[in-house]
Amino acid sequence: MKMIRIIYASKMADQVDEQAIQNILSVSRSNNLKSHLTGLLCFGSRQFLQCLEGPKEAVGATYAIIARDERHTSITMLYEHETDSRGFSEWIMGYVPESSMTKALLEKTMTDGRFSPLYLTDESAWHFLQEAKKCIPIV
Ligand code: FAD
Repeated sequence: MKMIRIIYASKMADQVDEQAIQNILSVSRSNNLKSHLTGLLCFGSRQFLQCLEGPKEAVGATYAIIARDERHTSITMLYEHETDSRGFSEWIMGYVPESSMTKALLEKTMTDGRFSPLYLTDESAWHFLQEAKKCIPIV
């Protein structure tokens, strides 16, 4: 089956509290399971980096909904490629918060050692997420 993988970056909206992330994750995991989507969501410095992968139509429909969500702004597509295999098959939506576990990764890959995904290129976004998934349990 033809699949697609996308990665986008965005900023959390000013009026939104970080507690909203638990709500986003719970709704995402329920929806993504039904749509056969997998992926990873990273958060830090009030910015998101998310990978979604799965059937082309399901990824497109979910991204269209996400792009309209007022809980984030400056939504920027970084990566969009067809693929035969999943990079995040273990996660319906894995979550990587900024933490002591990800600190070393951020220092190695991000400008100023801060989480600034809006400046990533497509390949660097993909490589960052490949490393980030080593920091989290399977959910
Ligand atoms: P709805 O009934 O529309 O919403 C479910 C719950 O989400 C509501 O009860 C409410 O508590 C909350 N909610 C929805 N919109 C808002 C809002 N604007 N402000 C406050 N609370 C709100 N969805 C996915 O399905 N898969 C994903 O991988 C995914 N990733 C996301 C990543 C980010 C960074 C963000 C900001 C959102 C993401 N979402 C994702 C959520 C998506 O934008 C929609 O809110 C969700 O898909 C709507 O689901 P629903 O129609 O089943 O439920």
